[in-house]
Amino acid sequence: MAPRDPPPPTPTATPGPAEQPALPARAETVVIGGGVIGLAIAWNLARLGKSDIVILERSYLAAGASGRNGGGIRQQWSTELNIRLMQESVALVKRFTADLGINVWLRQGGYLFLARTDTERGFLEQNAALQQRCGVGTRVLTPAEANEIVPELDVSGFAAAAYNPSDGILFPWPFLWGYADGAVKLGARLHCFTDVTAIDRPPANDAAGDFTVHTSRGAIRAHRVINAAGAWSPEIARLVGVELPDRPVRHEILSTEPLKPFLRPMVSVLGTGLYFSQSMRGEIVGGVSIHGDRHTLAMGSRLKFLTTMARALCELVPQFGEVQVLRQWAGPYDVTVDGNPILGEPPGLPRFYLCCGFMGHGFMMAPVIGKYYGEWLAGGKPHEIFDKWTLARFASGQLAKETFIIG
Ligand SMILES: Cc1cc2nc3c(=O)[nH]c(=O)nc-3n(C[C@H](O)[C@H](O)[C@H](O)COP(=O)(O)OP(=O)(O)OC[C@H]3O[C@@H](n4cnc5c(N)ncnc54)[C@H](O)[C@@H]3O)c2cc1C
Repeated sequence: MAPRDPPPPTPTATPGPAEQPALPARAETVVIGGGVIGLAIAWNLARLGKSDIVILERSYLAAGASGRNGGGIRQQWSTELNIRLMQESVALVKRFTADLGINVWLRQGGYLFLARTDTERGFLEQNAALQQRCGVGTRVLTPAEANEIVPELDVSGFAAAAYNPSDGILFPWPFLWGYADGAVKLGARLHCFTDVTAIDRPPANDAAGDFTVHTSRGAIRAHRVINAAGAWSPEIARLVGVELPDRPVRHEILSTEPLKPFLRPMVSVLGTGLYFSQSMRGEIVGGVSIHGDRHTLAMGSRLKFLTTMARALCELVPQFGEVQVLRQWAGPYDVTVDGNPILGEPPGLPRFYLCCGFMGHGFMMAPVIGKYYGEWLAGGKPHEIFDKWTLARFASGQLAKETFIIG
């Protein structure tokens, strides 16, 4: 009898809380947070030979924003830096299956932004011109042209649209599992259900000394620590006496019953923050801004979101009135005042690295941020993002605001 084929690779099966291996005494790099950002950095560091990494995740993989998002990836931004970074990120996503051996169900159906007012039309025109100069194929459309792309939209009351066909969506979980599996295969150690509770700075008399990271499952020493705890990053930073300005904001999202495929792009309405796409399984997945929310790490679902979202969806696509909502959930946006993340070492605390404040776009940025963080920490030249997106910029007031934000 012919030998059986080996089983196909499966995503990292996260052992339960009682089955976690003992923590090692020391690692060169400890990453706090098993979301897409921490895992992307870990994989990139490991592939560059720096695989003495321990990733500490308080819960299961994908427990935070990374397991709760809309999976959108776009190159329509208002600053050249973000446009160029996202062009590179999309290119990396297209290579993801080849690099990491898992299908992330990437579908480049475009992003279609709709503008109601002349001011919003001007915003789209100005940004489309910048995006085109960077090589992105964004076109500004009339409402009738937008209707050619999505005939089901009721475009009455809209002034214009912007469409880039190479934006798209992917399925969040395999993306996360791909990075986790890839990092573990290269030697990184992943410890879930391991809550970081305290961090000792290196001894004052030993500049090259280790941090000690205390967890619910023991302590581990580390040459460097990366705070990739997303909306929880201010809590982690406070453990070493650093105050971060990013704040958590609940963002809700829902999914409908599956429909016959009809919708190619992610559709988003400027002003209301409405966005929705159709997943590869046919569900409509999307969210809308609920204004006036206070900062919170609460992740419960609210009727207020369901009604606001249902109204916004049915107004734009009247046929959605017939569609059943199957589930709703929420996750934390990790919000900064200028819409950009916080990277690098805080003043006076070398080897403690920040990688947080990714708003509602950390998922799409993870490939390129992970790449540049990995290259820098493996000894390469730091990319300009590490000069621009420092913690110190908030005190100096030197903020280059990103205004193309959904939600
Ligand atoms: C509803 C919603 C829709 C979104 N849609 C999109 C989208 O379409 N496209 C896009 O690019 N982005 C989107 N985002 C944003 C994106 O999901 C985030 O920017 C990204 O996932 C952030 O990743 P992260 O690794 O920084 O954080 P997280 O995924 O939140 O990971 C942080 C991890 O740290 C862990 N942690 C916290 N405290 C501790 C501790 N003390 N010890 C150990 N571990 C700890 C948490 O459990 C968590 O798993 C959306 C977000 C939400 C909520």
